[in-house]
Amino acid sequence: MSNQPLKVLFIASEAHPFVKIGGLGDVAGTLPLNIRELYPVETGGVDIRLAIPFHHVIDKDKFDLRAITSFQIPGIEGPIKTNVFETSLGSLPVYLIDSSILPTSGPVYHTDASIDAPVFTHFSLAVLQFIQEIDWQIDLLHAHDWHTALSVYILDQRRNSNPFFKNTKTLLTVHNLPYHGELSMPILNAAGVEFGDLSKLPWWAQERPFPLGLLAADHINAVSTGYADEILTEEFGAGLNEFLQTRSSDISGIINGIDYQSWDPSTDTALAVNFSVEKLALRSKNKTALLDEVGLSPDPETFLIGMINRMDHQKGVDLVPPALRDVNDLPWQAVILGTGDPEIEKEAKLLEEDFPGRIRSIIKYDGDLARRIYAGSDTLLIPSRYEPCGLTQMIAMRYGNVPIARATGGLKDTISDYDESKHSTGFLFQKAEPTSLADTIERAIDIYNDKRRWTGLQRRGMKQDFSLNQSAEKYHDLYLKITSETTGA
Ligand code: ADP
Repeated sequence: MSNQPLKVLFIASEAHPFVKIGGLGDVAGTLPLNIRELYPVETGGVDIRLAIPFHHVIDKDKFDLRAITSFQIPGIEGPIKTNVFETSLGSLPVYLIDSSILPTSGPVYHTDASIDAPVFTHFSLAVLQFIQEIDWQIDLLHAHDWHTALSVYILDQRRNSNPFFKNTKTLLTVHNLPYHGELSMPILNAAGVEFGDLSKLPWWAQERPFPLGLLAADHINAVSTGYADEILTEEFGAGLNEFLQTRSSDISGIINGIDYQSWDPSTDTALAVNFSVEKLALRSKNKTALLDEVGLSPDPETFLIGMINRMDHQKGVDLVPPALRDVNDLPWQAVILGTGDPEIEKEAKLLEEDFPGRIRSIIKYDGDLARRIYAGSDTLLIPSRYEPCGLTQMIAMRYGNVPIARATGGLKDTISDYDESKHSTGFLFQKAEPTSLADTIERAIDIYNDKRRWTGLQRRGMKQDFSLNQSAEKYHDLYLKITSETTGA
C-alpha cells in the first residue's frame, strides 16, 4: 500500500484556464497540478486529478478533448444524460463533466438559485457515479465550497451501503462560507439520496448543500489560518459558527499560493516594461503606460490607487467613494477594474463624475489589464468586509505594489502593517468603515512621499514567498493525515 500513489479527486466549480471567475478558479487550476508535480505518481506520490463541470464558456477548440464515458443520473424529470471528457493540464488529468442540465448561455454563476442548484447538484452526483464507471477507487475526495459540498455528503451517506466508497475520505475546503447553496433537496430525492441524522445542524441549514458537506466531511479546511479561526465566530460564521465549533478539532487553515510562473513581473508579456526586485526602477514606466492607457493625466508622481475586484458587498467597494471624498485634498488618482453586482458597478462608474479626471472605472473582466494595474499602480485597495484568503494582495506584492487592505482573514495573515520595523509590507485598517480606510490612504500617501521608505515596502513585498509550493506541501501533509486516520462514522 505505501508505495501506491495516493488517489485524490479534486472537484471544483471552476478552474483556470478552462473557466475562471475568481480566486477559486486560480486555486483549482494550479494547486492540483502543483501537487502532482511535487509528488510524482511514478515515485508513489499523489495521483491527483481534477473534475469540473463542462460550462458552456469553456472553449472546446482550445483543449484536446477525449470522450471517455457516458451514463445517466436519475433526475426530477427523468434520467439526465451525462458525458465525461478527458483532457490534461500538463501532467494533470482533467475531467469535464457535461450534461443536458448545464445552461448553454449566460454567466457561470447566477443569483437565481433555481438555475445553479440543478447544475451543481447534478455535478456532485455525477462525479461519484463517474469514478465508479471508470472503476477509479479514490483515497480522498477534495471538494470546494457549496457547489461541490454535496458530493462529500452523498459519499458519506453511501459509505456504509456501497463498498466502493468504504475507504474514501473527504476534505472540504472553505473558500467562502456565506454562500450555502439551496433548492437541492428535490433533486437529491429524485436521485435516491438518503439522509441521516441532521440534528447537529441548525434547522434552517439542514437542506443546504454547504452545511450538509460540512457536517459530513472527514476534515474541513479554510483558505487561511485567520479565516479558519474567523468562521468559528458569530461575525464570520454565517450562522454556522456554533455548529462549526463542535467540529473545531477537524478544522485547519492553509493559505493559498499564487502561480509564480504566471505572476512574474520579469516575464509578464502583458506589461509595458518588465521589472524585478533588482530592476525596480523600471517599474515606473508601467505607471506612465497605464495612465496613458486608461486616459488619466500623465502625472507619474501622483499616488496611483488601483482596485481589482469582483464587485460584491463582501469586497467593500462601497467604502471607497466616501473614503476618497474624505481625502479629496490629497494628491491621488485611481483606476478601478471589476464586474459583478450591477448596483455596485453603477456606483463605481458614478465615481468618474464625482472626481473628474482623477478616476477611471472600468467595468469588465480583463486579465491583461489587471496585470497592468498590479504593475502600474502604487497601491491596491482591498477594503474587504471579509476575505477568506485573497489572492490580489499576494499578486500586488509580487508586482511591487503596496496593498492597503482591511485587517481580516487571509489579508491579515499575508500583509504586515506598516510600522518602522523591517517587516512591514503594506497597510492594514481595522474597521470596515470609510473613515478607517481614508485614514489609512492618508497614512500610505505620507510614506509614499518618503521614497526610501516606500521602496523598502515594495522590495519586502516582492521578496515574500507566496508560491504554490508552500501551500501544495501543506495540502499534501493534510491529505496524508486524513487518509491515515481510521473512518470515524
Ligand atoms: P475572489 O476569489 O473572492 O474573487 P481573490 O482575491 O481570491 O478574490 O481572487 C481574485 C482573482 O480574480 C485575482 O486573480 C484577480 O486578479 C482576478 N480578478 C478579479 N476581478 C477581475 C477583473 N475584473 N478582471 C481581471 N481579473 C480580475
